[in-house]
Amino acid sequence: MSFISVRNLKKSYGKLKVLRDISFDVEKGDVIAVIGSSGSGKSTMLRCLIDLEHIGGGSVSVDGEYLIEDGKYSSKEKTKEITSKMGMVFQNFNLFPHLTVRKNLEMPYGLMNKQASAVDTAALCDTMLKKVGMLEKADVLPAKLSGGQQQRVAIARAMMLSPEIMLFDEPTSALDPELTGEVLSVIKQLAKEKMTMIVVTHEMAFARDVATRVLFMDDGAILEEGTPEEIFTSPQNQRTKEFLNNFIAS
Ligand code: ADP
Ligand code: MG
Repeated sequence: MSFISVRNLKKSYGKLKVLRDISFDVEKGDVIAVIGSSGSGKSTMLRCLIDLEHIGGGSVSVDGEYLIEDGKYSSKEKTKEITSKMGMVFQNFNLFPHLTVRKNLEMPYGLMNKQASAVDTAALCDTMLKKVGMLEKADVLPAKLSGGQQQRVAIARAMMLSPEIMLFDEPTSALDPELTGEVLSVIKQLAKEKMTMIVVTHEMAFARDVATRVLFMDDGAILEEGTPEEIFTSPQNQRTKEFLNNFIAS
């Protein structure tokens, strides 16, 4: 079985079918780029995987353990154990505005690791901030940072919890173009370190360079899946072709 296996994942909001039988596999160290128009269900798919949305049917397993199997959720404890292997980074950073950068990292870590000493927590925090080039901003509030810096802090915060899988939901969409590169290079570095990642993105050059596989979503379904080479050089599906052409045109 794959590291992450998603089979016939379904999700509706009332009558609106948002995910229609989504199936894909992720192996350890894969970087999956998810592309597709706005409203195609990309965010919902990520939010279902990390249990921020209730799944309406299908199966999701991580490392051989089911989050949900044929529409039936595992126990609360099991669900928590599985989702604790995942870190998520959102489009709008979602930092705690009233906490310094350091406290943004230390507070969630402290909640998850009640026995950790303050000294060890601070040392880990320093390591993670250094990794994203933000150590010198440890004691400032998020509002004093650029969007790119805030997003790097958000990545460090997720990494504090030693995730085995990172989910990124359009991590650079809220950024001015000149700030996009610094965030993408942090994600590239994680890819080099073989972090398993699912990245929803509109950065096609990034997807082409970094992804091991690309999924194209449209209207709640995965219409096409392949290597970056296959998807960007010779897309098979008409909708994929149109989507990519619109990108080139814009
Ligand atoms: P994407 O991330 O690809 O832009 P989303 O997953 O955000 O797409 O949304 C997919 C569809 O689900 C859209 O039609 C959106 O309007 C709808 N949707 C998303 N969240 C909710 C919600 N909480 N309630 C009702 N509809 C929602
Ligand atoms: Mg979205």
